[in-house]
Order: sequence, then C-alpha cells, then structure tokens
Amino acid sequence: MGVTEQILSQIPGNPWAGLQRADELWTAIRAGKRPIPDGVKTAVTALDGVDWDVVIAGATLGVVLGTALAQRGWRVVLLERGELRGREQEWNISRKELQVLVRLGLLTEAELEGAIASQYNPARVAFHEGVELWVEDVLNIGVDPVTLLDQLKTKFLVAGGRLLEQTAFEGVTVQTNGVSIHAGGQVLTSRLLLDMMGHFSPIAAQARNGAQPDGICLVVGTCADGFTANNPKANDSGDLMASFTPIRNQCQYFWEAFPAKDGRTTYLFTYIDAAAGRQSLETLFDDYFELLPEYQDIELEQLDFKRALFGVLPCYRKSPLKPGWDRILQVGDSSGTQSPLSFGGFGALLRHLSRLVDGLDEALTVDCLDQKSLGLINGYQPTIAVTWLFQRAMRVGLEQKLGPNQVNEMLSAVFRVMEASGEKTLKPFLQDVVQFPALASTMLKTGIAAPLTVAKVLPQVGLPALLRWTGHYAGLGAYSLLSLISRGGADVELKFSPKTLFYLHRWKELLEYGAGMDYDE
Ligand SMILES: Cc1cc2nc3c(=O)[nH]c(=O)nc-3n(C[C@H](O)[C@H](O)[C@H](O)COP(=O)(O)OP(=O)(O)OC[C@H]3O[C@@H](n4cnc5c(N)ncnc54)[C@H](O)[C@@H]3O)c2cc1C
Repeated sequence: MGVTEQILSQIPGNPWAGLQRADELWTAIRAGKRPIPDGVKTAVTALDGVDWDVVIAGATLGVVLGTALAQRGWRVVLLERGELRGREQEWNISRKELQVLVRLGLLTEAELEGAIASQYNPARVAFHEGVELWVEDVLNIGVDPVTLLDQLKTKFLVAGGRLLEQTAFEGVTVQTNGVSIHAGGQVLTSRLLLDMMGHFSPIAAQARNGAQPDGICLVVGTCADGFTANNPKANDSGDLMASFTPIRNQCQYFWEAFPAKDGRTTYLFTYIDAAAGRQSLETLFDDYFELLPEYQDIELEQLDFKRALFGVLPCYRKSPLKPGWDRILQVGDSSGTQSPLSFGGFGALLRHLSRLVDGLDEALTVDCLDQKSLGLINGYQPTIAVTWLFQRAMRVGLEQKLGPNQVNEMLSAVFRVMEASGEKTLKPFLQDVVQFPALASTMLKTGIAAPLTVAKVLPQVGLPALLRWTGHYAGLGAYSLLSLISRGGADVELKFSPKTLFYLHRWKELLEYGAGMDYDE
C-alpha cells in the first residue's frame, strides 16, 4: 500500500475512493475520450406558458446569484443534483471582496462575520533560491462554506425561491419564448437557464464541442492539525505561492498554506497540459507527502489529517465562454471567468456579482435573452486573457528541456520588480486583477533588470502564444482607455431606448472589468 492510500483511507469520508474517481476522470481527459454531451436541443416552436424567470442548474454558488435575483423579485428555481451544502474546507478570499454580500443586501455585517471561520496575516510569496516577500490582507480570510450557504439558502427561500435538491439537470430544449428543462423526472419552463454546474458542466462541454482543455491545474492537499509541534508560531502565517524545489517530473511544483479553523491547509499545485503521459493525481499526492515534511518542517507522524483535498482544474483559452444558444448562460466555474492562475472561483464570482446581478436583472426586464445579448455579460476580458501567458510560462512541456530553476528564476525576477513597485502593483495581481499600467511597467523593468531570464521565456512559451498574448495586451490597453472615456458618459443615457441602454450598460461594465479597473484598493 502506497503512502497516499495509507493516509487517505484513514481520513473520515474515504477520500481515497474520491481520489480514484478523480483520477479516472483525469485519465479520460488525457486520453481525449470524453463523449460530447447532447442534452441541449433547439425547437422553433413556442411554449404554451412559462412558469419561471430563471432556473439555475447547480446550487453551490448558484444560491448566491439565485438569492440576489429572487430578492429583486424574479421567480427563481435552484436545481441541485445532491444536497445544497457547502464543503467543510474554507474558501480563502480577501475581506474587501466579501463586502459585496453586504452591499447587495444578501447578508448583514453580523451574518458575514458569522461565516468567517479563520483569518491571519501576513502571507508569503517565495521561490526556490530566489525572492521572498510578505503581504498583508490578501486571501487571508477563510469563509466557512457550510455556514455561508446555509444562511443564503434561508434568504433564498424567504425571498420566494424554490429549491429542488436531489434533482439533476438532464436536458433542455430552447424554444422561441423560453426553455423547457428536464430534471429529476420533471419538466420546468423558464425564460432563462443559468448553467452553474462547475468545470465539468455538460452544457458547457457541449457549447465547447468537447474541446480538450488548453491547460490544467492539478492540485492536491490536506487540512491537518499538529503543525505547531516543533514551532508554536508555525501556523501564524500563510503562503500564497511558494516553491522550494527545481523542476521535477517536468513540472514546477508550487505550494499554498493557510491557517484554518481545523488546523492548517496545505496544497501542492502545478500547471500542466493534458498530454497522455502526465502524472496521475495519486502520483502528485505521493510527492506531496514526500515533500510536506521539508516544506513545513514537520514529520507526517506528527500530523492529524482531517481532510484530503484535490482537483483537476481545466481551463480554456476561449474564456469567458460565450453562450452557445439563446436563453442559456454559463456562470461560475463553467463560464471560465476565474483566473487561470488561482482558479479562485468563489472569489471570481463575488468580484463579478454586482455586474452579473445588474446585467441579468436588466436582461430579464427588457427581454434581452438572446445569444448575442447574453454574450455581452460573458464578453471578452483582456485582463483574463493576458494571464494565460503567465500560466504558460510556469508550465514545462513533457519533451521540453529547461534549466532546472528556470521557472523559479523568472518568477523571482518578476516579483522582485513588483515588490519594488509597491503594493499598488503587487496586491491587485495577487488578487487576480491585471491592470495595464502595472503590467506595462513590470514588463519593462523586468526586461531591463533580468534580460537573460526574460529571453529564456520566449522559446519556452513559443511564438504563437507570444503573438496571441501581444494582441490581448493591446486589448488591455484599449479597454483601459475606453473605460476611462466611458466613465464620463452617464448624462446622455436619457436619449436611448431600454434595449439600447442594456447594451450600453453591458459595454461599460465589460470595459471596466475587462481592464481590471473595477479593482479599488
Ligand atoms: C482544492 C480546492 C480548493 C479551492 N480553494 C478555493 C479558495 O480558497 N478560494 C476560492 O475562491 N476558490 C477556491 N476553489 C475553487 C472553488 O471551490 C470553485 O471555484 C467554486 O466552488 C465554483 O463554484 P461553482 O458553483 O461554479 O461550481 P462547483 O463548486 O463545481 O459546483 C457545481 C454545482 O453544480 C452541481 N451539479 C453538477 N452537475 C449537476 C447536474 N447535472 N444537475 C444539478 N446540479 C449539478 C454540483 O453538485 C455542485 O453543487 C478551490 C477549489 C478546489 C478544488
């Protein structure tokens, strides 16, 4: 029996069985053998009547958006194949990002405080044989998903929402005036379907026509108690991103660590492609248990493992995903709106929550539910697109020959410059927001300070990726400029029809969010 099986099979809930299921999925992804779902059909007929305004398939983050829409008076159904219950493991986020829940009236300040399970300061960013820096108030709050989702579930029901648990989405027919949704043996009719079924949503897979992911983040980890056995202060701070090894198994390994209510959470993650020869999650977990003692200066025998955590997180260059049909929109992980670096989907949903609620509210009010109109809600965002190259630069191809410390050297060079530029540059980046002025100055200064390190990145990522990135970089500049101009346009609104106003509002938001200018320190 290997170390991973030995430890995971002793943790309550049998995560060992879950790991094997996740590895089966990962094997199928690498083999390119996943069937393309065909649950979405279209018909050029009208429904006799439409009972609901919005049906949301997938309730984990669906309840956040569902509650906001129900509170605005829309008739909302939440479909969940299991039970609406948050996972035990905290979501880490920065405090400012959480305030939207209070601003939108979803939670009171006291309720929000009640959902915060842990907080700490400071957090470290460090790379093998390179930079080490510390920041405050970034991803330092641990939200308890069980409490948060329970509070929102109550608010959702009070606002008149209908929750259908143990009711799996099976298929949908898009008709001229609505959608008919098959779920758990019943048919629901609605004006709009929101797909919040996560990374492996069957609707998103059909919209992407079964495309292979362009990148994968493999993550494994645990939450355990006992880290303070050798050092009482060992759990006072966290790591946002740390490495202490050179390239291994054609991967650069990164670590995260967060103080948690049940001990300390530690993750090992790496960015890779979906090539057939890539390692399994179990092999990565073996490496995690081999390296954890060195990373945290502790022996495995000193730890009491409470939970095992793991995931295969796919991402696609064409993100956010544009709607494939009228009346269906992806939101949350299924939409690809989260950063391809952090995969912090809870943080990403909260960051976009205001504009999603406003956009959907207005779309329902003026009946802009066609594919093109909904496409503006999930429109092109250069701030996400430019991040792709960063992921690419941290990835090593299976056949690629890089210097053993090349990725660490590049990251150290970039973070040294960002640290010297100050918090205004560093903090947005660590919270998944890339802004044009900060990016332009960081690139220029890194090129001057470490020209040889930068030059090595070019053959690593390849010319096509670099050219694509240059286009997105120009897009980021253009969005920034246009967003500044559009801030002055509020007075002319009275002249336009409600539908034109819907388009103007969506464009204004897209420019702001797409340029990272929604970030406000
Ligand atoms: C190990 C790990 C650690 C993470 N840590 C953080 C963190 O610290 N901070 C952060 O911001 N993010 C974190 N994330 C990411 C975060 O958990 C996700 O981004 C978030 O859960 C996405 O929510 P979602 O509702 O879009 O998708 P999911 O969480 O995948 O939820 C999808 C929902 O849809 C339901 N569903 C699926 N299929 C059907 C169907 N056919 N019918 C009905 N319902 C269906 C599922 O049961 C589920 O409830 C982490 C992820 C992992 C794997």
